[in-house]
Amino acid sequence: MARLLAILLIAAFAWYLYRRLQATHPASRPGRHTEDTVKCAHCGVYLPARDALHEGSRAWCCEAHHRLDQSRHE
Ligand SMILES: [Zn+2]
Repeated sequence: MARLLAILLIAAFAWYLYRRLQATHPASRPGRHTEDTVKCAHCGVYLPARDALHEGSRAWCCEAHHRLDQSRHE
């Protein structure tokens, strides 16, 4: 009887280790989301590319900086 109990304990422990290894496996973790950032051509602040105003290869953080930067170069 004690042998059966020991086998059950070992099986339970093995199952526990198996589940733990699966939970910590790098492939099962959600990948760190990296987002493209751009630098505002006027103030130099970094912001997500999807929130920026783009014109060619330049980007701005807001409409005001876009206009200010354009008037500066005219
Ligand atoms: Zn800016």
